[in-house]
Amino acid sequence: MAPRRDLSEARIAVVGGGLAGIAATVALAQAGATIELFEARRRLGGRATSYRDPGSGELVDHCQHVSMGCCTNLADFCRRVGIDNLFRHDRRLHFFGPDGARHDLEAARWLPAPAHLGPALARLRYLSLAERCQVARAMWHLMRTPLVDDPGGPTAGEWLRAQGQSARVLERFWTVVLVSALSETLERASLYYTRKVFVDGFLNHRDGYVLEVPGAALDALYGSPLETWLERHRVALHTGTPIGSVDAHDDEVLLQSREGPARRFDYVILALPWHTVGNVCASPLRARLPELDGLQELEGVPITGVHLWFDTELTTLPHAVLVGGLSQWLFRRPAQSTAPPGEHYYQVVISASRDLAGRNRNEITGAIHEELARVFPDAGRAKLLRAKIVTEQNAVFSPRPGIDRWRPRQQTSVPTVALAGDWTATGWPATMEGAVRSGYLAAEAALARFGREQRLLQGNLPPGICSRLLVR
Ligand SMILES: Cc1cc2nc3c(=O)[nH]c(=O)nc-3n(C[C@H](O)[C@H](O)[C@H](O)COP(=O)(O)OP(=O)(O)OC[C@H]3O[C@@H](n4cnc5c(N)ncnc54)[C@H](O)[C@@H]3O)c2cc1C
Repeated sequence: MAPRRDLSEARIAVVGGGLAGIAATVALAQAGATIELFEARRRLGGRATSYRDPGSGELVDHCQHVSMGCCTNLADFCRRVGIDNLFRHDRRLHFFGPDGARHDLEAARWLPAPAHLGPALARLRYLSLAERCQVARAMWHLMRTPLVDDPGGPTAGEWLRAQGQSARVLERFWTVVLVSALSETLERASLYYTRKVFVDGFLNHRDGYVLEVPGAALDALYGSPLETWLERHRVALHTGTPIGSVDAHDDEVLLQSREGPARRFDYVILALPWHTVGNVCASPLRARLPELDGLQELEGVPITGVHLWFDTELTTLPHAVLVGGLSQWLFRRPAQSTAPPGEHYYQVVISASRDLAGRNRNEITGAIHEELARVFPDAGRAKLLRAKIVTEQNAVFSPRPGIDRWRPRQQTSVPTVALAGDWTATGWPATMEGAVRSGYLAAEAALARFGREQRLLQGNLPPGICSRLLVR
């Protein structure tokens, strides 16, 4: 059914102020639409947010978030709202082998993609020469295996073993590179998403692998600066306003907050987590959204951030990739934050952290402290002043084989309702990039509804000439 209004008269509501909802709001506000954004919590940012540490009073991220050079939509979003200068670009990745020796991974200046990381990989001496050759063979096959969509199998682990990768190579190379990028183990992640992450991040473009690290707490990135931006662009922002119920007809949407009167809109974008979006849909609307039925197939994966305050500095490196232990990544406090005197804060991130369930806190922090001491001599002498373990059980959905079948498109079968969220059909695993992509796609659907065809989604980094020839 054709809409009654054009864009300049349309009233659009966005429900959910995580990155997906914010990206949709920003894009629509820039296109000239009238938007209201409803967020249940007092702050924007959703899962990408921080808390105020009572011990020091400073902002600490629930879990460190990083992105990569291949995340072109997140980069576009940050440029639009003027926070792109708050990211650090780590081109040299610091790996530490099980023996504690350091190996830096950096693109060779003189080699084009996909060979740019070849010399650095060839120097990973915690793998034997034969193991490094195994890795090179599997990378070649991964490059030459065309996968245009998610065929439903096999898992990364099954495929890699079929390519002759030994248990040690799986543990010391593929797990290290992939588990944090996919937030899933090799035994559960699909080959399709494994290949996507590997090709986009490491093979297609020289800058795809560059680690983009926020130089400030997430709340200082996506909280206050975005609130100011939205105010300046005349977006009506309702934080602390959980929406209790949404109903929609072909030409009108009815939004009921938990308090206050019902509000009428012409279009709504539901940018909520996959496990709660169905709950806010009133029964008549829910009955018209069969695309939500498959969401029960999405399984949550936990990610754990272990926050550690030591009495001495362990390392001045901004990050470290720890091979073969419990700890996966170590991050040092962002340069702009203010440390209380005598305290040195580090965060260890453990993706797909199911194995931590049932282990006690001291056992976990003790094991991590020992691992850090193997790598950084000062950690052995350092006293752990305090620690906090934060696990988000539904941090992301599992990118298991065939999952795309259950991820709905942004424009739903109800013409006045779109969905956004990292779990919608974006072709990406659950990441900030996926969330922003979903927001842009939902905004494109909203614009189309009011007669404006506009492409917001940014393309991938353009593959280099050699990558175009070699990567299928
Ligand atoms: C521990 C952890 C570590 C991660 N690490 C990384 C990383 O390093 N790199 C990366 O790219 N990604 C990472 N991610 C994933 C990333 O955080 C998400 O992909 C992204 O933030 C999802 O954004 P979203 O807008 O889709 O969803 P959300 O952020 O979940 O936003 C949904 C919003 O809806 C709001 N809401 C819920 N119910 C209502 C209601 N009834 N009314 C109004 N509002 C409501 C919520 O409060 C929330 O703000 C991590 C996630 C976690 C949890």
